[in-house]
Amino acid sequence: MRIAIIGSGMAGLSCAARLSQAGLAPSVFDKGRGLGGRMATRRADAGRQFDHGAQVITGEDAAFRRLLDDAKTRGFVREWDIGDGTVKAVGTPGMTAFAKYLAQGLDLHQQTEITSVTLTDVGWDLTADQPVGTYDRVICTAPAPQTSTLAGHALTQPLDHVSYAPSLTLMVALNRPLDAPITQSNPTDALAWIAHDSAKPGRAAQNCWVVQASSDWSVSHLELGKDEIATLMLDLFLGHHGLDATDVAYATAHRWRYALVTNPLRQSFVTSPDGTLYAGGDWCLGPRIEHAWQSGTAIAEDILRSA
Ligand SMILES: Cc1cc2nc3c(=O)[nH]c(=O)nc-3n(C[C@H](O)[C@H](O)[C@H](O)COP(=O)(O)OP(=O)(O)OC[C@H]3O[C@@H](n4cnc5c(N)ncnc54)[C@H](O)[C@@H]3O)c2cc1C
Repeated sequence: MRIAIIGSGMAGLSCAARLSQAGLAPSVFDKGRGLGGRMATRRADAGRQFDHGAQVITGEDAAFRRLLDDAKTRGFVREWDIGDGTVKAVGTPGMTAFAKYLAQGLDLHQQTEITSVTLTDVGWDLTADQPVGTYDRVICTAPAPQTSTLAGHALTQPLDHVSYAPSLTLMVALNRPLDAPITQSNPTDALAWIAHDSAKPGRAAQNCWVVQASSDWSVSHLELGKDEIATLMLDLFLGHHGLDATDVAYATAHRWRYALVTNPLRQSFVTSPDGTLYAGGDWCLGPRIEHAWQSGTAIAEDILRSA
């Protein structure tokens, strides 16, 4: 069976890994350079790195927890002691490591943006900047608004009511030590999350911090330029810690337009009427990596049942 998966985030990779485990050979396409989608690690000059998307991996589902345990055993995930007696799982040496763990042995095509998905007499034609191929099954795991644009015409139900909160994120490296907790979570403040990213296990000895604006602040500043966002967030961060501009070695911002799902579809995936095109991702079930994994895995199981 010829299978194409759009997206190498957690949903796409978990689907591909399960299919591959069952002896199928899906091809995975992603427009980005790196694996992992929103489970992202940004590398900057001077050996700096920042997990600027998902911060930690949590799991309630027993099968997902087993997967996390296996990834820990193999060194792709480690426990991060955040200093208040709480321990969180993180990819090592960056959050993308968890994606790399799932991606082992898969047929991956990065920097390939799929621009159309069309049903013909012989299957689904995928196009990027040129024809990509014809497939018996296609799985689209882009965020819901992007899935709607790409494949909405072929799905049995609209995805309009799925909603997300955006997240504006500042990545900052300091050139002097900062005496602050490893993580600070203040959901009602403009800077809702501040984390000493370099304090995660397996990172280089750097002084890199990741700062996420609250969802209200992100909504009200979403359309500013990235430099303006960086300047405003940096001012707030410096003020919060009594630092000044000379303490900053590096700063940049990232805009996540579709960061955290606020109103999911509440079913594991959606298909075309004939069941050969699937769409899924975190937006089906909830706002976390685990939800993306559940959706991707459910799609794979459905394909295997009908194969
Ligand atoms: C700032 C932030 C903080 C977060 N914190 C946490 C956290 O601490 N814990 C947690 O569990 N979750 C967290 N999340 C949520 C978590 O990252 C997501 O739930 C999960 O990674 C979603 O996976 P996914 O595969 O559904 O989607 P994505 O990761 O978005 O993957 C979709 C992929 O599709 C690709 N794509 C889209 N369109 C196309 C196209 N046309 N052609 C080819 N490729 C395409 C994209 O490039 C992307 O790689 C956070 C998210 C953000 C942004």
